[in-house]
Parts: sequence; structure tokens; C-alpha cells
Amino acid sequence: MTEKSIEQRIDQLQAGGIVDMHFDLLMDLYEKRERKNVLRTEFLPEIEAGNIGVIGVAIYIEDRYLPDAGLRVALDQIARLYAETQACPRFAICKSYHDIQKAREKKKIALLNTMEGAEPLGTDLDLLRIFYELGVRSIGLTHARSNAAGHGGIFASRGSSPEGLTGFGRGLVKECEALGIIVDLAHINPAGFTDILSILTKSPIVSHTNVRRYYDIERNISDEQIKMIGERRGVIGVNSVLVSPNEGESTLDHYVDHIEHIANLIGIDGVAVGFDFFEFIHSQWPESAKKELAEKLTTPQFIPDLRNHSHAGNLVRKLIERGFSDEQVQKILRGNWLRIFEEWL
Ligand SMILES: [Zn+2]
Repeated sequence: MTEKSIEQRIDQLQAGGIVDMHFDLLMDLYEKRERKNVLRTEFLPEIEAGNIGVIGVAIYIEDRYLPDAGLRVALDQIARLYAETQACPRFAICKSYHDIQKAREKKKIALLNTMEGAEPLGTDLDLLRIFYELGVRSIGLTHARSNAAGHGGIFASRGSSPEGLTGFGRGLVKECEALGIIVDLAHINPAGFTDILSILTKSPIVSHTNVRRYYDIERNISDEQIKMIGERRGVIGVNSVLVSPNEGESTLDHYVDHIEHIANLIGIDGVAVGFDFFEFIHSQWPESAKKELAEKLTTPQFIPDLRNHSHAGNLVRKLIERGFSDEQVQKILRGNWLRIFEEWL
């Protein structure tokens, strides 16, 4: 194939927009709340360059705000999302599959508000309804730490809590499904993972993870778990920051190895992207905070040519080089997530 025809193929595949199911946008908007037009000036150029069409933008509460300010910071993060989106009409906050379709028809970038860790709810299930009304449409019960809902998978090959979900956590899963909030199994510990699947009747998602075969930590997903997601017609988004514990192995090719591994186990309908681009936050931190992350969790290894949304075309090119058909690439880039949105939202 000539270089020109590859470029055309990349452009055509990207033209429909890419769905990225995990982006830590809201904590950054919150930390920059004294500034205006952060979304437009700091994020829009890269998002447009990568032709990203739908982004799951997560509420996340850092340890220093917990427990007392968790709810307030979560609400403030949503407030920033609304204010910043109003100031930049290239974006649309979407609450349904129909909203997403409408936004895409108008060439807008659809934002789906998600929550990473149920800490903002405390132990009050009634608050879920409030977050639903504000537009939250996907919840992962925990980050790496434990909370009222359950326990996170740790950044080691064993040692997570043997406990699954709490009673509150089980109630939360049921209520999410009843309301129409996608339940996300990213980060949950192995016992909690099994618990969630025993409750859910709709297709499960893992918004951003990597396969344990290549990076064996409980925060990532085992072959057995991948098959459990596949059996339920779920979708797994591949994360760009935990591709390997080693810097030299954190490459775009190895990112595609993760995609390929999942596709080999459960088929092409079960794999998508959840880039979790994080360098923009990490690079703002003082050395002490980077050291703390490295000690508590891990040192994220950023893939040189997949560091932010503007690099999405590099992934499309790599998928073509690796022999994926156009139909397969489209499923990875958007079709699989859109099927989940149609089912849940
Ligand atoms: Zn995460």
C-alpha cells in the first residue's frame, strides 16, 4: 500500500471520531478554577488534532480532600465542567445515547461525565440520584484505595483485600443499573470484580485497564476476568499508562499487544480505548508528589507517541500496520463503546 493511501485510510477511519472512555479532565479544571477557558485553550487543540469524538471525563477526588470535602469538590468539578463547556460550544455534555448522536451530527465533541471512585457519595445512596440528574453516566466504584463501596486493586501482583463489595457497594451497583449509570469495573479488586458481575444484568465495562499478562498487578485485568467480560458482551478500554512497568517496553506496539491480547481472548467486539492520558497532570506536580505516587502506586510510563489526544492518529496508523481491518479498527476506536452507550443510555 502506498503512503498516500495509508494516509487516506487513517483520515477516513479517524473522521468518525474516537471514543476515549477515561480522561482525568475534571480534577484539572477544578485545580485551575481561578482561570477561564482552560478547556478551550489547553485541551481543545489536542482533542481536535486527534479527532476525538466522545470523551468520558471523570470526577476524581484526591486524598487531601477526603473525607470531608469529597462531596463539595465533586460538585465543584461538575460546576467547572458546565462553565467551561458553556464557554466553548465545540463541546456538548451528553446524558443519553441520543445526545451523543446529536452532538456528533453537529460535529461537537461529546463529553460523558463519569466518576472514578464513589467517595463523593459517602454512604448515602440517595446522592446517586443527584449525580445522575447532574449528568453522571458511568461510575467505577473505587480507585486504588478502599471506600464505603469496596476495595481497589493494588499495584502489586497480590495482596488486595480478599473482601468483595460492601452492602453499600452492592446497593450502588443495583441502583446504577436501575437509573442507567454504566457500571465500570476499572480498578476494583478481584473479589469486587466477581461481585459486580454477579449483580449486573447489562453489559459490563472496564473503562481503562491493561492486561496482567504484560503488567501483572491486581489493578490490571487477568485473562479469566477478560473472558468474564467477553461472556457478558462487555467492553474493555486499553489504558496507555500501564502498558509495562518498564520504560523501554512502554511503546505504541506494546499498547497494540494489549488490544490484540483481549481481541484474541474475547473477539474484536470486546476491546476499545480508555487512554487515561495523565502526563498533563503528572508534569504539573512537584517532585514530592511524583515520589509519593511512585511509592504508593507506581511510576506511570508514558508512551512517547501516545502521550495525549493529538497522538490518536499514531494509534490508527499502528493498527493498520499491525493488520487490523478497517471494520476492526472502527470497532476499537468507537463502535464498541457506542454499542454500550446504546444499551445503557
Ligand atoms: Zn484510573
